[in-house]
Amino acid sequence: MRAVIMDAPGQIRVGDRDDPQIIDPTDAVIRITATCICGSDLWPYRGVEPADHLHMGHEYVGVVEETGSAVRAVKPGDYVVGSFVISCGECEICRSGYPSKCVHAEFVHAGIGTQAQKARIPFADGTLVATPGEPEDDLVPSLLAASDVLGTGWFAADAAEVGPGKTVAVVGDGAVGLMGVLAAKEMGAERIIAMSRHSDRQALAREFGATDIVEERGEAGVARIRELTDGLGAHSVIEAVGTQESFMQAIHSSRAGGHIGFVGVAHEGVALPMDEVFFAEVHLHGGPAPVRRYLPELIQKIWDREINPGKVFDLTLPLDEAAEGYAAMSERRATKVMLTL
Ligand SMILES: [Zn+2]
Ligand SMILES: [Zn+2]
Repeated sequence: MRAVIMDAPGQIRVGDRDDPQIIDPTDAVIRITATCICGSDLWPYRGVEPADHLHMGHEYVGVVEETGSAVRAVKPGDYVVGSFVISCGECEICRSGYPSKCVHAEFVHAGIGTQAQKARIPFADGTLVATPGEPEDDLVPSLLAASDVLGTGWFAADAAEVGPGKTVAVVGDGAVGLMGVLAAKEMGAERIIAMSRHSDRQALAREFGATDIVEERGEAGVARIRELTDGLGAHSVIEAVGTQESFMQAIHSSRAGGHIGFVGVAHEGVALPMDEVFFAEVHLHGGPAPVRRYLPELIQKIWDREINPGKVFDLTLPLDEAAEGYAAMSERRATKVMLTL
């Protein structure tokens, strides 16, 4: 099969890999119909993380081709959306709502790789969710978004306890931040302040439900948030970047007693000054999003055309042109790139 391979930082190739096979009875093999490039794929691309013949991709929708003998929830022919983390669905951690920390958790990008024609999905019952039927073509980008960026933005908003009457600040205008705006709108937030300095992303943020835009960053951005909230700060803050600056911006943008949902992947060296965290008196909740928990609800909202998260894709390319997709995202010519098969 054809698959995207990162030979070294900045070097993307579409080459041949062996077709995946069922290994364990809980596996499914799916034929991928659409996949995408994630902001987190840019870390190895830019050499921030090691890259040595990596099988890329962790976001995917597709059709089940074959299942192991123990798989019950999906069957060959089903159209499915899966999480970017493999989860069993049965352990105590999965049942408590944190499938991304399942005792059997495995990151799809670490070996499986869904920027490919096919993928073997372990623990298919606990990882995949079937859609109500074969989706119309225009629903595919939104279903694909549910696999990571929508599910992650949704978790961030949930972790930040977004709700009716609340003011939400969103730090980060990448795909996840924009999905956080959409989630905050769906959860009934009264005011949604998107922090963005790119006009195209500001426009999309407004379309997804942002009521205010703050262009300033860092402490200047914090000062603007305070101005907009009677000096108190936001009730809920979504952190969708993962740097020290963005995290401190999130903490300082929150009011005392406020909630911060953080989903930007922090890298080595990001460290919070605990004295500031202590005196901020805020709730912190975040990590790799338990996307599988939200998939049934998100798929239904997409199916019913209540939300259109697929608009976050601003470039679509065939899988064979993946290298151009990586370059476009790395050079910020595209927010989120879909790869079709
Ligand atoms: Zn991703
Ligand atoms: Zn589990």
